[in-house]
Amino acid sequence: MIDLRSDTVTRPTPGMRQAIAHAEVGDDVYGDDPTTRGLEEEVAQLLGKEAAIFTTSGIMANQLALGVQTRPGDEVIVGEGAHVFSNEGAAGAALSNVQFAVTGVGRDGFLTADEVEAAIKPVANWFPRTSLVWIENTINRAGGRVFPQADVRAIADRIAPHGLALHLDGARIWNASAATQVSVTELAAPFDTVSVCFSKGLGAPVGSALAGPAARIKEARRLRHRWGGGMRQSGIIAAGARYALAHHRARLVEDHANARRFAEQLLAQGLPGLSVNLAGVETNIVNIDLDTPAAPVSLAARELGLLINASAPRRLRAVTHLDVTSAQIDEAVTLLARAVHACRTHRSA
Ligand SMILES: *Cc1c(COP(=O)(O)O)cnc(C)c1O
Repeated sequence: MIDLRSDTVTRPTPGMRQAIAHAEVGDDVYGDDPTTRGLEEEVAQLLGKEAAIFTTSGIMANQLALGVQTRPGDEVIVGEGAHVFSNEGAAGAALSNVQFAVTGVGRDGFLTADEVEAAIKPVANWFPRTSLVWIENTINRAGGRVFPQADVRAIADRIAPHGLALHLDGARIWNASAATQVSVTELAAPFDTVSVCFSKGLGAPVGSALAGPAARIKEARRLRHRWGGGMRQSGIIAAGARYALAHHRARLVEDHANARRFAEQLLAQGLPGLSVNLAGVETNIVNIDLDTPAAPVSLAARELGLLINASAPRRLRAVTHLDVTSAQIDEAVTLLARAVHACRTHRSA
């Protein structure tokens, strides 16, 4: 099976398993796990923040960011289709009691300073209090596109007089950095808090982190424990994350080259009713638009040995990662072309 469903499907490499097997551990709830503490310090430094906290998932890191920077009833400005709004089981509403301002903000996740400023609620008893602005980089729903850093800076400048906090959902910040050759430190600089994932393109089995000011991260530790996210000998998984940071960042450009190769070859097939916005393939995600339903194509591909998800009624999403080679990318193009053909023949029959 060639698996292009997500970059979360990677399995630990032999080297990573070695690092995991030899990890020094202790009880992290008591602050005694040296591998976890080492990871947190490393992440804080990489992102240029005072402190960081290791979490089980990117969702937990994002939810901690909401929890420590909002009060119940506050409003958070996010881009259209943001993961925190669409893919986190309404946790923002359920856990931190916030609502999201999404109308007319950030088409495809690209917020502008003007849109953000227009979405800030004036101070009045009948309006929610706007407390946080939320940006994704890369933008998942937009097909892994990079959020322009000039726009980040413009937004940071514009919200400063309003006293709002700025959060980066950097689940794929590593990809944004690899694609632009701008350091993660620089990408993270305008933000108060930043969440990052180790279990996507970096290939660790489990784990994410939230970085930010020491006082916020201290509060996040309390919340994480309350939500059942305190871990004991977490060095076992933190070791995988540390190994991933050290060994799997530089190779992300290979995933990006594979995504481009996949998109270009797929287009070269000249398949009827299939389109890809090549200019939008900036990192490791390819959105494939169809003029017919995507779910049957996904099913047909699975029968041929290719796993690829339908991410919208007429859209497939392919994600490259460290467990797919360029030879498998070529094979995937052939299999997907066959699946598309099979579905068209079936429809016209
Ligand atoms: C994957 C992802 C997350 C977090 O997902 P988890 O599965 O909880 O690790 C958060 N934000 C974005 C943009 C993502 O793509």
